Amino acid sequence: MHTENEQKLRALVARTKIFLLDMDGTIYLGETPIGDMKNTLAAIRASGRKIVYCTNNSSKTANEYVRKLERIGLFGDGDTVYTSGMATAEYLREKYPDASVYLVGTDAVRAEFSAGGVRLCDEDADIAVLAYDTQLTYAKLVRINRMIVEGKLYIATHPDDVCPAEGVYPPDVGSFIRLLACSSGKMPDVICGKPYTIMGERLAARLHVSPDAITMVGDRPHTDIRFGNNNGFGTLLVLSGETDAAKAAAVPASDRPEAIARSLNDIVCFL
Ligand SMILES: [Mg+2]
Repeated sequence: MHTENEQKLRALVARTKIFLLDMDGTIYLGETPIGDMKNTLAAIRASGRKIVYCTNNSSKTANEYVRKLERIGLFGDGDTVYTSGMATAEYLREKYPDASVYLVGTDAVRAEFSAGGVRLCDEDADIAVLAYDTQLTYAKLVRINRMIVEGKLYIATHPDDVCPAEGVYPPDVGSFIRLLACSSGKMPDVICGKPYTIMGERLAARLHVSPDAITMVGDRPHTDIRFGNNNGFGTLLVLSGETDAAKAAAVPASDRPEAIARSLNDIVCFL
């Protein structure tokens, strides 16, 4: 590794109190932990730093992610999960506490919003929310399209076009947004997840630390790294997922990380 990058990596790790970890491509690929990730995460915890798994995927609840992380042996004491769905629910509760919400989302995520104090209803709601609904139906599309055309506030949990998966990547919220833009002529008024600031502001408020003590680690420059840069967090790009060294060298300034590592496992010697 280049010496200048190594110095940046050392300085970044030294000031970090909380690691926000993207999941797919950063700590695992599908069901397989990347390298010796179990021991890397244990070393982060042993150093007194906290781990927050931070995902845009709003088709699953935090509990569903905890179960997956436990199943592959990565979840540990003090770790937490934060999804773009959770950020959206907190944003709604804080900004629009009395509003009713029509949520296009999975049954489990709808239950998580309700438990989080968001008043969901299917008819005559004030606000339309689009999550990554893997149980999407035509009736749901018709209903949310009608609300958008009527001028109701329209919020999307995150902007990703596709979801990382084995084989061909399936359509994610960004693709649903384009479908609805075609039918309604409108784009979302608010998008909460990475790379935008609502999820970052909610996280900083929850974690009670200054942004520069938080480091976002991820494999996607245009979501993970731009998210860190937009929110004043440290940023570490890992080359264990979607981005190789050649792609990393070609990213625009907005998506440029503070440091690069082959994988998160490379930071252990700096903890
Ligand atoms: Mg990723």
